Amino acid sequence: MIILDNHFHVDPFKGLFLEAVKQFYRAGGTHLVVVYKTAHDYGFPGLKAEDFMKAMDFHLELVEKINRETPVKAFAVVGVHPAEFVYLAEQKGLEYAKNEVMKALEYAQKLCLEGKAIAIGEIGRPHYEVSEEIWQASIELMKYGMTLAKEADCAVQLHTESFDEEKFRELGEYVKEVGIKPYRVVKHFSPPLVKVAEEVGVFPSVIASRKNIQEAIRQGNRFMMETDYIDDKRRPGAVLGPKTVPKRTKAFLQQALFTEEDVHRIHVENPKKVYGVEMAE
Ligand SMILES: [Zn+2]
Repeated sequence: MIILDNHFHVDPFKGLFLEAVKQFYRAGGTHLVVVYKTAHDYGFPGLKAEDFMKAMDFHLELVEKINRETPVKAFAVVGVHPAEFVYLAEQKGLEYAKNEVMKALEYAQKLCLEGKAIAIGEIGRPHYEVSEEIWQASIELMKYGMTLAKEADCAVQLHTESFDEEKFRELGEYVKEVGIKPYRVVKHFSPPLVKVAEEVGVFPSVIASRKNIQEAIRQGNRFMMETDYIDDKRRPGAVLGPKTVPKRTKAFLQQALFTEEDVHRIHVENPKKVYGVEMAE
């Protein structure tokens, strides 16, 4: 059985790294979408485009290591985290920060075009209060990232503030404006608004808590599952653990909350459609 966690971080400095991946595997997981953390997390200052590019290269090495040294198939997602842009704008000014982040996003696109990454992300807007200027610039950068993804015909993974129906509708407007294919836009850390997401042309990646997944599957199986595992030993329990997606999937199947068909759709067909990847066993 193929089981994918659609948003998983690894941190070789602060976290368990390969051990976390092995825990995922032992629980029954087979495929991971491993998302870039921040330049800072990877030991780069995050003060210019080159820092982000080096951090993305470092991220690709981590993903290669997972593929080489564990039985799990890992896919890379690279971008510039919205918090990195906020920090840079505060340090060096808005225009400078925008320019550097745009260059870095173009590099992320290049990595997608070369087949080294499957999506640009996580990009988007901060989940905390910022100035109106920074907020608007974040939206512009999010749209720029979506435009780059559209050109490369790859996916984007979006990080945002916490979401509700109204915000999904706002995001749907940007999707239309940019003209990217609706199934290429993944809302990471999504609430279980499966129907609304489909209506507005966004693909939800739902946090795999029991309550969320129960509500999501009530609405349909057009979603993926994620933990947003952050791999930071100093913050245990800050997010779901690495075993959650396989454990939840198996439990739901056993309790007939998922059918075999649901599991296949969520873990094989949906990622195939969104990322254009083969999900071989
Ligand atoms: Zn994340």
